[in-house]
Amino acid sequence: MRVSNLFMATQREIPADAEIPSHRLMLRAGLIRKMASGVYSFMPMGYRTYKKVEAVIREEMDKAGAQELIMPALLPAEAYQGSGRWEKFGPEMFRLTDRGGRSFCLGPTHEEPFTEAVRDSIRSYKQLPVTLYQIQHKYRDEKRPRFGVIRAREFVMKDAYSFDVDEAGLDISYKKMYDAYRAIFDRLGLDYTIVDADSGAMGGSGSQEFMVKSEVGEDAICFCDECGYAANEEKAGWTRGAAQEGEELAIEKIHTPDVKTIEELCGYLNCGPDAFVKTILYNIDGKFVAAMCRGDRDINETKLGNLYDATEMELAAFADVEMITGAKVGFAGPVGLKQKIDIVVDPEVTGMKNFVVGACETDYHFKNVNIGRDFEADQVADITNAKAGDICPKCGKGKLGMARGVEVGHIFKLGTKYSDALGCIYLDNNGKEHSMVMGCYGIGVSRVLAAIIEQYHDDDGIIWPSIVAPYKVIVVPTKANDEEIMGVAEKIYADLTAAGCEVLIDDRNERPGVKFKDADLLGIPLRITVGRRAGEGIVEVKRRDSSETAEITVDEAVKAAKEI
Ligand code: ATP
Ligand code: MG
Repeated sequence: MRVSNLFMATQREIPADAEIPSHRLMLRAGLIRKMASGVYSFMPMGYRTYKKVEAVIREEMDKAGAQELIMPALLPAEAYQGSGRWEKFGPEMFRLTDRGGRSFCLGPTHEEPFTEAVRDSIRSYKQLPVTLYQIQHKYRDEKRPRFGVIRAREFVMKDAYSFDVDEAGLDISYKKMYDAYRAIFDRLGLDYTIVDADSGAMGGSGSQEFMVKSEVGEDAICFCDECGYAANEEKAGWTRGAAQEGEELAIEKIHTPDVKTIEELCGYLNCGPDAFVKTILYNIDGKFVAAMCRGDRDINETKLGNLYDATEMELAAFADVEMITGAKVGFAGPVGLKQKIDIVVDPEVTGMKNFVVGACETDYHFKNVNIGRDFEADQVADITNAKAGDICPKCGKGKLGMARGVEVGHIFKLGTKYSDALGCIYLDNNGKEHSMVMGCYGIGVSRVLAAIIEQYHDDDGIIWPSIVAPYKVIVVPTKANDEEIMGVAEKIYADLTAAGCEVLIDDRNERPGVKFKDADLLGIPLRITVGRRAGEGIVEVKRRDSSETAEITVDEAVKAAKEI
């Protein structure tokens, strides 16, 4: 391809909301173009790389025995009603109505349509196991679309679904996908960690996420260096310390005017945040819940939401807090609530003695509060985030460390949740009916592209690993009007094209500096510069991932390019 003909959608002005390197570079290099919040076009340079990522995924899925098909993205409501997810998805689902008043959605994930397809075609255990997949656009009306294609509202996912006769079969299908995922992310050159994940809304018995390590990752990962435990923060457990000893003191109401934060309260009472218990009110599907944890901890909303099988959950509105506590916001506590609501406490709180809580009265707190004596918890459950330094939940010895990551893939053991709901059954060799045992496996194809850039870039641009580079080589003649230089450059270009190499020639009448800048921004792995020594058959080569240049013969350069 000639750069003079290339449709380069490079962008000079980068919007302020492009906060992270991959988003900025994808816009600058013209890989994507924004249509609306979280909705992007892939431009030619982006689409070429996108197709390469897709090809690696497809090859490994096929190798693992999965069969590709394609389903519609426009799906009738009934497809999701049988499983209850038509309601469950809430506002994240894009919904529409056809001219006849029939409800549809744009598929956010396809467990139900795949389950129905298999249900309608498979009768016997002899036809199992089977794993099906597609690579297709998905639609989710994300609360906060951001970071370009990392969290988009229309994005491409490879989603696969396995169907087995039993759990043992599922374990084998799951392992095949696990291995395929490792092969995919290894081939794409990503540095990633596999972590235990929350199986939340999907139900099921186990799940793991493939996390690309990155400071800009939205997910926090907890890991233990002692035993290798690694889990997404949404799921990570931690070992609570021993219960506090000592006598229960008499409860006391204290006047705490003008203190609004835990820090101010600590200063006022001259103690640490670990002497407090926070009470945070949530509205979970219209029901109010008080969640309690130690003052220096944070509530994990995924864990809390799972406890209530939540569809929609948010902090209770100020007016609701005032109604329930009878006090201004900041003084909620478990004693003296004006309305009976569920109280959920983290197990750590049950081990605490004589703690401080809000008094459900503006400007007052209670001191020396004790669970069991002063109030009862409706539930004791792990509802807090692990922190760096906490004791590992698995080995009980190591201390947890924290890192950030971008989730590029997710594999789940679903069990029979969907097959039970949708009647996806098979007959065993005695003619007895059983529900199929399912797994599901997703990769964010467009997100992978951004994740690769996060790990492969510098100040000048993208540094594509050769396997996904849109073009592998760029030939840069330094002067477009010099016959000798152009002759050598065109010859190299022709040789490489004939050899099947994806090569660009920058035949524009531009200064070398401009051409080098664009080649660097686009991240082409090898640059062959044809300049003043062209007449002697000498050219300069430079790899994008190195700052070194070398002068070599044309033949050597062509050989190096073919190797790439
Ligand atoms: P997240 O926690 O990031 O929202 P998820 O758990 O909702 O992800 P899954 O439902 O497991 O994601 O989807 C499978 C894969 O699809 C994810 O691992 C991720 O790579 C990708 N993905 C999910 N949501 C988006 C999105 N909004 N934009 C781009 N890719 C996404
Ligand atoms: Mg999500």
